[in-house]
Amino acid sequence: MTEDQASSPHPTPSLQAATAPFARLSDDDLATCVHCGLCLDACPTFRTTGLETESPRGRIYLMTQWKRSSLPFTEEQAKHIDLCLGCRTCEAVCPSGVPYGRIIEAGRAEVESLRRPTPKRWLAKTALRQLLAHPVRLRAFGSVTRLAQAARLTSFVRSGRQLPPLRAQFRPPAGNIAPAIGERKYRVAFLVGCVMPILYPQSHQAAVKLLQLAGCEVWFPPDEHCCGALLAHNGDLEGAERLRDVNARMYGAGSFDALVIDSAGCGAHLKDFYPSLQGRVKDLTEWLAEVGLPEPKREVGLRVTYQDACHLAHAQRIRKQPRELIRSVPGIELVEMRHPDICCGAAGLYSTLEPAMSNRILQEKMDDVLSTRADVVVAANPGCQMQLEVGLRARRSGMKVEHLSELVARAY
Ligand code: SF4
Ligand code: SF4
Repeated sequence: MTEDQASSPHPTPSLQAATAPFARLSDDDLATCVHCGLCLDACPTFRTTGLETESPRGRIYLMTQWKRSSLPFTEEQAKHIDLCLGCRTCEAVCPSGVPYGRIIEAGRAEVESLRRPTPKRWLAKTALRQLLAHPVRLRAFGSVTRLAQAARLTSFVRSGRQLPPLRAQFRPPAGNIAPAIGERKYRVAFLVGCVMPILYPQSHQAAVKLLQLAGCEVWFPPDEHCCGALLAHNGDLEGAERLRDVNARMYGAGSFDALVIDSAGCGAHLKDFYPSLQGRVKDLTEWLAEVGLPEPKREVGLRVTYQDACHLAHAQRIRKQPRELIRSVPGIELVEMRHPDICCGAAGLYSTLEPAMSNRILQEKMDDVLSTRADVVVAANPGCQMQLEVGLRARRSGMKVEHLSELVARAY
């Protein structure tokens, strides 16, 4: 067991020791499910299909039977695990405290180690490992994709058509420091991450500006790698652990009050998976609510709706702070949709690996979003931003998608 694991309240099972099938799945975690079914209506895949096998209870039952060798492992049954979004809505509503996020990540890792991957899954895993662990390669890939998009070449593949218009990538300032505006009250580290600086550089720019306005000196840790969330969500716990160890060493060498993150999926992963940072990982909205922003300078006359990112609302239980920040902008009218905390179907690579289910979930979300007649739908996670944009384009809607940081920065 590593030092990090030893100090974690929920230690990651030793990966090397996990040689028996399903050894990574904890019996104690699985046994917390009392099969009450109170999570069923909150689960997007159960809501969409009405099938017990596509519910949290059904998936926990399946993994329990596999672990007990009461059911043989089959590719057909593994499909029920593939179809889980990992949104953790079930975890948030479960009265029994089932740690579903931990269960599904361990379950996925087992499934991936036992199956013969389809070409699509093999390609996804290889691409994740080859790009996310190598920031220079990833940036080069982003630059090539931008050129391909300008030449309209990305429109030939589905995942290419889903991309937002790519701009110049986000790059930290010289010296890796952005100074506080006015009195320096805090020093924070900022997670630049892997895909966000390529897909949504403007969201990072707005987030950094807000931090500076809040009196934070912002440090961009050099040699930072992807946090590992995308790998862990896709059953590659070993790959995620390697990235965690590289990053944890680098964060350990720095001094900061908080590590601020503007991507909900990364924030949830760092809170769960980086015990050495315990208590110092903060979502941008959580941190700004703690330290405060100066008085807004401008009125922003917009009707806005807010989509809860699953890994913010369910995994980190942060719902109030984003809404308070939106309401703090003068002239904003916040209109809630009926189910703001139901997943949009993005879920990392899910929209690529499971496009049919992802699209069914997206259609329900689009009905909800469009019924608000908002000018802007706000999210706090790049996957949600991209998925909502895809949905709005398909409906030929003029509604815009913005990261919460961009909306709030409009007031300054
Ligand atoms: S996961 Fe929780 S809410 Fe769902 S059936 Fe099990 S105990 Fe009940
Ligand atoms: S993580 Fe989401 S999709 Fe998976 S079982 Fe839970 S609620 Fe359903």
